[in-house]
Amino acid sequence: MAAEAAVFLAHGRDGIVCIGDAYGGTLELLADQLPLLGIPTHLLLGTELDQLDERLASLSGNAGRLVFLETPTNPALEVFDIAAIAERAHAQGARLVVDNTFASPVNQQPLALGAELVVHSATKYLGGHSDLTAGALMGSAELIGAVAGWRKNLGTTPAPETAALLARSLRTLPVRVQAQNASALAIAEAMQAHPRVARVLHPGLASFPGHALAVRQMSGFGAMLTLEVAAEGADPAAAAAAVVDRLKLFTLAPSLGGVESLVTQPCTTTHHGLTLEERQRRGISDAMIRLSIGLEDPAELIADLEQALAGAAG
Ligand SMILES: *Cc1c(COP(=O)(O)O)cnc(C)c1O
Repeated sequence: MAAEAAVFLAHGRDGIVCIGDAYGGTLELLADQLPLLGIPTHLLLGTELDQLDERLASLSGNAGRLVFLETPTNPALEVFDIAAIAERAHAQGARLVVDNTFASPVNQQPLALGAELVVHSATKYLGGHSDLTAGALMGSAELIGAVAGWRKNLGTTPAPETAALLARSLRTLPVRVQAQNASALAIAEAMQAHPRVARVLHPGLASFPGHALAVRQMSGFGAMLTLEVAAEGADPAAAAAAVVDRLKLFTLAPSLGGVESLVTQPCTTTHHGLTLEERQRRGISDAMIRLSIGLEDPAELIADLEQALAGAAG
């Protein structure tokens, strides 16, 4: 969040248009806090992408306009076309910032696709062991230089111990992420065939709406996946909770990207602050459970999901 906030203040003071679902803190910063400073912000759903040009055209000044997005998104794993959106931002004189946390730099490099700046929550895959909080920002020396002063004087600089832990974690980033990619795809495929699962959202599945685009712009599909539990007339939130409660290898926790597999139920955690109508508008069903796949044996993770789904049905 420190990296994002510094970018918004350094390069987005004429206004920011956010596309699609974003991290809860990002949405709060954009919807509630930056407008207090007089920075206009617009939040568009993925289905409202046609409004991007007109929203950008409504922003004026010489202090910088930004388009901001995450891809794939949380928790629906929606995939946005980075190159196409960068082109539209540039046509209006705006810059594109991509939060690349879910993909990690191993699987997706937005700078090569036309984005000017990329932010990561290093708390997730870059750190990879759920034991540090940090952020990372990538871009040209000129753009980063303008952010550096904001960061220094807002005081959002990580402790040296954190930086040392992060530097050590980065050495294993490619092997961790490649193993996590492979496990997540195997689990997504197994879950897709499961009768108690209504839908599996993962960019690596050929059946997933964003798959073709993901193949074009990602070199791996990441280790986040979302299941929609088949509720069959029952209360969808309770049906999903029954599965979550029976999992033994997945820890119930809202973070992601570490070596241990985690599970969350978006409607009771990350998206709890939204009304049911707003969640539905955003395509977030109460029957969803979101998985962050770690480095355990994928066969054991599949077995754990299978016993939890079977137990919850009975
Ligand atoms: C966790 C997260 C953030 C915020 O990161 P912090 O390290 O907790 O400040 C931002 N974006 C995404 C996509 C995240 O998952």
